[in-house]
Amino acid sequence: APGLYIVATPIGNLGDLSPRAAEVLSGAAVIAVEDSRVTAKLLNHIGIKRPMTPYHDHNAESVRPGLIARMSREAVALVSDAGTPLISDPGYKLVRDARAAGHLVVTIPGPCAAIAALTLAGLPTDRFLYLGFLPPKAAAKATAIREVAGVRATLVLYESGPRLGATLATLAAELGDRDAAVTREITKRFEEAVTGSLSDLAARYADAPPRGEIVIVIAPPGEPEAASADDADTALAEALTRLS
Ligand code: SAM
Repeated sequence: APGLYIVATPIGNLGDLSPRAAEVLSGAAVIAVEDSRVTAKLLNHIGIKRPMTPYHDHNAESVRPGLIARMSREAVALVSDAGTPLISDPGYKLVRDARAAGHLVVTIPGPCAAIAALTLAGLPTDRFLYLGFLPPKAAAKATAIREVAGVRATLVLYESGPRLGATLATLAAELGDRDAAVTREITKRFEEAVTGSLSDLAARYADAPPRGEIVIVIAPPGEPEAASADDADTALAEALTRLS
């Protein structure tokens, strides 16, 4: 049917493309892509050829109206280079405008690095806050971390290898020495999750920037110490001592 189809694609392992994703891509009149070379590889893998049109941060404003118009008569698919569109990738305004125009909007969910990292880290998953990429500059990065220091949830963020050591050091300084995991190359040959305290991880990666794609997962802040009856007795005894 005509409309907009949001299609998640693999984050490193082509085997993770769902049969439904392949079916929708095969039937799309046009696929909006970040990089046509990347998506061409994927289409090649499933043995199809479809028209592609670039949709990325630099041309989105100008090409969006044309894509929205096509949705009234054709199936338009949106993919990003890897993973789930709209998650630290373009697409939200396309969905917004497709809805405003009354078009059908369908999601074909699948791989997402943030969710995959949560499943590997061994940290609480009941509440989490996705931060995407932090600002690269030191001062803005520290501010962004400070803003969420009090949030009682696991934190999930994307980072690049060269910046990992500095980011872990800032996280340790601003959040305290929480448990964390550095997950890397998820679904690829060298997938790993390195766990430890933020300061241990900062030391480990300080002079050894790892290759590949990275997600950092950080434990929530510890429970505040509950004041016990013993503490109250001690405080009372001390107060009485000072009075006498
Ligand atoms: N939309 C994508 C998703 O659903 O995860 C994320 C796009 S964002 C531009 C790319 C970042 O996601 C990378 O810099 C890295 O932090 C993370 N990422 C993507 N693939 C990954 C993988 N296989 N392993 C670890 N991190 C990955």
